[in-house]
Amino acid sequence: MNDEILKITADAENYTIYTSMCKAQRILMRSYDPICSISGGSDSDLVLDLIHNIDEDGKVTYYWIDTGLEYRATKEHLDCLEQKYGIEIKRLKPDKPIPTCVKQYGVPFLSKYVSEQIMRLQKHHFQWEDEPLEVLLRKYPKCKTALQWWCNAYYTPENGIQQMSRYSISRNKWLKEFIIANPPDFPISNKCCEYAKKKPAKRFIRETDADLEITGIRKAEGGIRSANYKTCFSESKSKSCNTYRPIFWYTDGDKRDYEQMFDVTHSRCYTEYGLRRTGCVGCPFSKHINEELVIIKEHEPDLYKAAVNIFGKSYEYTAKYRAFVREMKAREKENEKRQNASGDQ
Ligand code: SF4
Repeated sequence: MNDEILKITADAENYTIYTSMCKAQRILMRSYDPICSISGGSDSDLVLDLIHNIDEDGKVTYYWIDTGLEYRATKEHLDCLEQKYGIEIKRLKPDKPIPTCVKQYGVPFLSKYVSEQIMRLQKHHFQWEDEPLEVLLRKYPKCKTALQWWCNAYYTPENGIQQMSRYSISRNKWLKEFIIANPPDFPISNKCCEYAKKKPAKRFIRETDADLEITGIRKAEGGIRSANYKTCFSESKSKSCNTYRPIFWYTDGDKRDYEQMFDVTHSRCYTEYGLRRTGCVGCPFSKHINEELVIIKEHEPDLYKAAVNIFGKSYEYTAKYRAFVREMKAREKENEKRQNASGDQ
């Protein structure tokens, strides 16, 4: 880190940013072949700026994966980043692009975990029966994990059937009731994440013989992605490629501080379109998908058509599920009211 950067960081009196820079410098010093994943999103912009600030030897290789469903604004932003920092961001092809994955395996629905379990059940021609776990295990003996999710229970030979709340369908309220009433008549799968994101990243690590992978995950972003990690650094089990998340501890406030300190600007996806997140266009896992689709339609109409074409079934099924949840909640309230009224009498 040069003196100017060190001074800006120290003067700003933001301890989180200061320590992250010092730690990043120490970690980078110990690496011979570091690679840094660039998504074109706002967290990734910070990571690139931070790493570039301390990478005095220019040893970091930057890469971006084209999932096959990317904003034009993201691609333009990558060109801007290359010019701004005088770097090359390698464009990687996916093992299979999202449209191919969806055609081959099915469409993502609700979340990665939910899609994974439904995919497994569909593979075993599950009939969405509301039966106890022991009955279903006899009927579908090779589908234990997904059945446990479906039954909100798990089985061990020592303790028999036990109730569980983690990794169970009840984490998504009314989902089981909804699926029983409306079984999916189309394949559901989370395979696009595997073929369009995970596999190409792993391949690149192998090809570059990287010993450090730098990514832009923050704890404050919430969700499964950040919940999978406890700290900013994970040592590889095989001692091959460690993973480092330099802005893991940044709050939204730290992020704003950093942007001001180092004049970090983001892609037009944020500044012009008004999106809250970037990434794959129209991913059905997004909690704000309807709001996003309106924005995509206005700013990137061709991609909107593509997203609806690829993910349309999932959008419809999700909307139906949300409507079901609203109805069930209303019924629940009504029942409560009635019970309270009869209790008062
Ligand atoms: S983030 Fe969404 S659209 Fe992108 S690969 Fe994963 S499931 Fe598919």
